[in-house]
Amino acid sequence: MINFDNIRAEFPILSRQIYNKPLVYLDNAATTQKPRCVIDAEALVYQTINSNIHRGVHHLSNLCTEAYENARKTIARFIHAPHDHEVLLTRGTTESINLVAYSFAHSFMQAGDEVIVSQLEHHSNIVPWQLMEQTRGIVLKVIPITNEGELDLSLLPALITPKTKLISVAHVSNALGTINPVKDIIHLAHARNIAVMIDGAQAIQHITVDVQDLDCDFYAFSGHKLYGPTGIGVLYGKEKYLNQMIPYQGGGEMIQNVSFTKTTFNELPYKFEAGTPNYAGAIALAAAIDFIENIGMKNLEEKEHQLLDYAHQQLALIPGLRFIGTAKNKSGVVSFLVDNIHPYDMGMMLDKMGIAVRTGHHCAQPVMDRLGIPGTVRASFAFYNTNNEIDLLKAGILKVKQLFA
Ligand code: PMP
Repeated sequence: MINFDNIRAEFPILSRQIYNKPLVYLDNAATTQKPRCVIDAEALVYQTINSNIHRGVHHLSNLCTEAYENARKTIARFIHAPHDHEVLLTRGTTESINLVAYSFAHSFMQAGDEVIVSQLEHHSNIVPWQLMEQTRGIVLKVIPITNEGELDLSLLPALITPKTKLISVAHVSNALGTINPVKDIIHLAHARNIAVMIDGAQAIQHITVDVQDLDCDFYAFSGHKLYGPTGIGVLYGKEKYLNQMIPYQGGGEMIQNVSFTKTTFNELPYKFEAGTPNYAGAIALAAAIDFIENIGMKNLEEKEHQLLDYAHQQLALIPGLRFIGTAKNKSGVVSFLVDNIHPYDMGMMLDKMGIAVRTGHHCAQPVMDRLGIPGTVRASFAFYNTNNEIDLLKAGILKVKQLFA
């Protein structure tokens, strides 16, 4: 039996006060808090092995390189990547998606070729493709969503043409919590020789991700949403694509040989890791993965399911509260509106009670436009949250309602 109270105690920030009230942190979809072992792991790099990696002949550099490459191995094992060199370390999901958009479009697409995204995407899985529309002449198409906030996959086959080269969709929606049937999408796409990229920013911390089982061609996520540090992220990519894609950035580390007549590129994964990487962040991310694996993904999923069910059940008792996004399959997020109260006012007043939620469009403006709302209040959960915190959220909402009555 897992003792989640003890696990919660490993997160120093969760015992702090906000306006003299205990912090109720329900903004985990924006970023998760960090356990002590992650904070210590990053500090320990700087205290004991800090040195630039890969190019040093000296002892410290070798230790730091080894720790960095071990972190890559930990990440590869965590997502069940077939090869370590298919795991690229980036700054985060945003950089991972930009990398694929730029390099895939330059290496595999002609003007007029098409990429399909969905109406449920975070801006970071829309704008990089729009940049490729402007600079490469690719065409962006969109899978619509239903009123419940699910992808309307019945419309996908009609969007696909012989010019469709890639489909890029979120595994889990950050705005509504919808879990998308990505395996079905990948199956359908591969039957037509189309590559698939999955934005896993909101899935990796909630769902067991096995890139071989999914058979996705690319999978992106951020360390900071997985209890790791900020400024480190991951792009898994199949070597059959990565080997043929041009580098996203040029610089040190990513080359084999440089001259003014001919420069050759390094092998995977270094071809896509120009410049000094965030080795301290990568090593601390591996510590976060060790921490999560110690709890067990299944235990964590079960706890978060229970929290989500309890939150739905309790908030449904509030008169005038409307859930936004009622997909059958959801993870981590409850988005809602309360009659006659602007989400921003609700967020500001909950904050005064020590309750941290997110309000607004959550970087998913097309979702809000489709549902005809300016934004939502979003409570998002992690395994360290408690039913008591959900009770405090409910009491807080009721209090705001009274003040607005
Ligand atoms: N995609 C989704 C679904 C997200 O929720 C986020 C973060 N809110 C991102 C992409 C971007 O992640 P990051 O800002 O860490 O690069």
